[in-house]
Amino acid sequence: LPFAAETSARAVVDLAAVRDNVRALGQHAAGAAVMAVVKADGYGHGMLPVARAALAGGATWLGTAVPAEALALRAGGITPTHARVLTWLCAPGAPFDRLVAAHVDVGVAAPWALDEVAAGARAAGEPARVHLKVDTGLGRNGIMPTDLPDVVRRAAALEAAGEIQVAGVFSHLACADEPGHPSIAIQGRAFDDAVRTVEAAGLEPEVRHLANSAAVLTDPRLHYDLVRPGISVYGHSPAPGLGAPGDFGLRGAMTLQARLANVKDVPAGHGVSYGHHYVTERDTRLGVVPLGYADGVPRHASGGDAGVGGPVAVGAGGAARVLRVAGRVCMDQLVLDLGPDATERAGDVVTLFGASDGVARGALVPNATDWAQAAGTISYEIVTGIGARAPRVYV
Ligand code: PLP
Repeated sequence: LPFAAETSARAVVDLAAVRDNVRALGQHAAGAAVMAVVKADGYGHGMLPVARAALAGGATWLGTAVPAEALALRAGGITPTHARVLTWLCAPGAPFDRLVAAHVDVGVAAPWALDEVAAGARAAGEPARVHLKVDTGLGRNGIMPTDLPDVVRRAAALEAAGEIQVAGVFSHLACADEPGHPSIAIQGRAFDDAVRTVEAAGLEPEVRHLANSAAVLTDPRLHYDLVRPGISVYGHSPAPGLGAPGDFGLRGAMTLQARLANVKDVPAGHGVSYGHHYVTERDTRLGVVPLGYADGVPRHASGGDAGVGGPVAVGAGGAARVLRVAGRVCMDQLVLDLGPDATERAGDVVTLFGASDGVARGALVPNATDWAQAAGTISYEIVTGIGARAPRVYV
């Protein structure tokens, strides 16, 4: 795949991987429908292309955080016959009228939201489809179980008045990536209680949903009617301890590459990058990679005495190897110590991460989880953080 002349870095997004990952997730969650979570610009991959690929893989729902994302899906041509769309993070004053008119389902996570949604429905001239979001123990957004009976009573009245339809009940797990964590069973029971409270009021939600990627992959008891995988859609394991992507039939969709901007010889004892946290031990050859923290390469993945250093795959064939960032990651660039015998030249392509099970598994191409581990974070932050200076190239 040729590199566009004006770009020195790119994020190649394999849409077939997204499609296949969704298909695999559908098999893990057999019996439940799949909502592909495409918030945060499709976890950095590009929301619309990813959404279409996810639908091709069998997803029938798309999940977004904020209203602008849901509206952009509809404006981008994803109609209600293609997919139901849910937005679950609405602040007061959200454009509920436009969401209802665009046939976007709305998450109601606080008592105030019901009346605002109902007002939006009146303005739109049709009922709003709402999903009641219950805080079963995440301690984040959601209706507290103690407030639920009142909210449900109000919802039943609004449904009877034809202003809303309670289409779903849902919640989100705090510790699904730690199978066996006691909070999982506690949240499961609290969720069942919440569903009973809703149903006891005569409401008949179409879908109950609780499972994020970790729950989809590890615990069928949490699948209910609909699952909401995010990170696994993009081919990453929700937590390194759960397994590598390949263990779940997933493959990374994004490959982050750059062309070396410079290759040069330096003597032994040469300090590399800000702070001189890496000093060459021998005469060697340095390679300059034109990606830095402004592109989302974490500065915490600096190397030398600044840290472990994020992994970069260099070379091809028998010369292929994984090197660690030498010294500080800068705003726009990072440096590799290619070694004295390096044959790489300026312009050669290096890969920061791609579709692999990771260097911890002996892969010659790192994955986003390897970068996350070098930076003390999670793969989610790596892929969502890759900036626009690395254009998304779809294959
Ligand atoms: N459901 C909700 C409510 C979320 O906020 C998220 C993402 O944080 C997801 C599902 C998807 O989670 P994951 O990416 O871990 O699969």
